[in-house]
Amino acid sequence: MTEKIRRFLDERRPATPCLVVDLDVIEDNYSNLHRLLPAAKIFYAVKANPMPDVVARLNALGSSFDTASRGEIELVLDQGADPANVSFGNTIKKETDIATAYALGVRLFAFDSEAELEKLARSAPGSRVFCRVLVECEGAEWPLSRKFGCTPQMAADLMVKAREKGLDPYGISFHVGSQQTDLGQWDKAVGGVASLFSILRERDVELRMINLGGGFPAKYRADVPPLEAYAAAVMDAIYNHFGNAIPDIIIEPGRSMAGDAGILQTEVVLISKKDEAEDKRWIYLDVGKFSGLAETMDEAIKYRLRTPHDGGATAPVILAGPTCDSADILYEKASYELPVDLKIGDKIEILATGAYTTSYSSVNFNGFAPLNTICI
Ligand SMILES: *Cc1c(COP(=O)(O)O)cnc(C)c1O
Repeated sequence: MTEKIRRFLDERRPATPCLVVDLDVIEDNYSNLHRLLPAAKIFYAVKANPMPDVVARLNALGSSFDTASRGEIELVLDQGADPANVSFGNTIKKETDIATAYALGVRLFAFDSEAELEKLARSAPGSRVFCRVLVECEGAEWPLSRKFGCTPQMAADLMVKAREKGLDPYGISFHVGSQQTDLGQWDKAVGGVASLFSILRERDVELRMINLGGGFPAKYRADVPPLEAYAAAVMDAIYNHFGNAIPDIIIEPGRSMAGDAGILQTEVVLISKKDEAEDKRWIYLDVGKFSGLAETMDEAIKYRLRTPHDGGATAPVILAGPTCDSADILYEKASYELPVDLKIGDKIEILATGAYTTSYSSVNFNGFAPLNTICI
């Protein structure tokens, strides 16, 4: 909780649920990462928090942008981004959207299949392309495995094809999984990419770029290593596998940039029990899985909570959202406890909710409005 957000909530008393994003924290996060990884070019993963003010602030700081759709490309260009600093990083794109991106000046594209490469060759001729490879995502709380990437063997063949088709085979990307807690994952992945550089050099393709994706954490309920440790792990992996021939380095942080910049204020709507003999209270909030907290799916992301009664005695709870869908339970197995003094109408603050909330919120399920997000 920053002083600025505290003051805003105290003075303005916005209706709940409400996400307040402190742009100064986003700026600090960008500056820290830039200071810790000066060799890397930062492409903010727009999906983490696509609020125009967030994009504008990062653009002013010199950030580049990792986008996934035509909509995100138009958003960042509207906020003043130079298309030369925009990557179309989704491996799954309509050819019409590739053509639109190309017409708008985007020249950097991801792919992980031959069919996608053919679309790029036709509709984004001469562009720099990078191939995403599969990695395991072990240790990640929100894995991004299986759906994206191809095997290294396939990546090698596709990069040769890319050159044959008149594209610029620029480099290789991976994503170790979001909220990655195992620092060893980068060394494994970077090692695989370095091997691909060697294999392709023998086939006369000189790769020039490694894209390390995201995976840097926000601080949720469990402790995570400091960002310094992540930066060291990344650079150690690069030096270890590339020696002095360091390629261009791209990173695509989303969660670590926006996560701890946001505080979601919610109100307790109901406290009840299913049976008098039960010890667990059900706490129903005015925010749930469909209004921004989608990452509580399978209780994957475990947010920290603040209540007005912190410090007092606590008891186990099941936390749920307000909608008429039984999937709208936030935490049942994750052993959350809240103060016994908690009352209906109390405000609860859900910490580090700046990433993957606003944009996940449904349009109007059950008549509940999308998550109101205010950047300050
Ligand atoms: C979602 C995503 C990111 C951001 O990942 P974080 O773990 O939130 O930093 C980066 N790159 C790609 C390709 C992504 O899909």
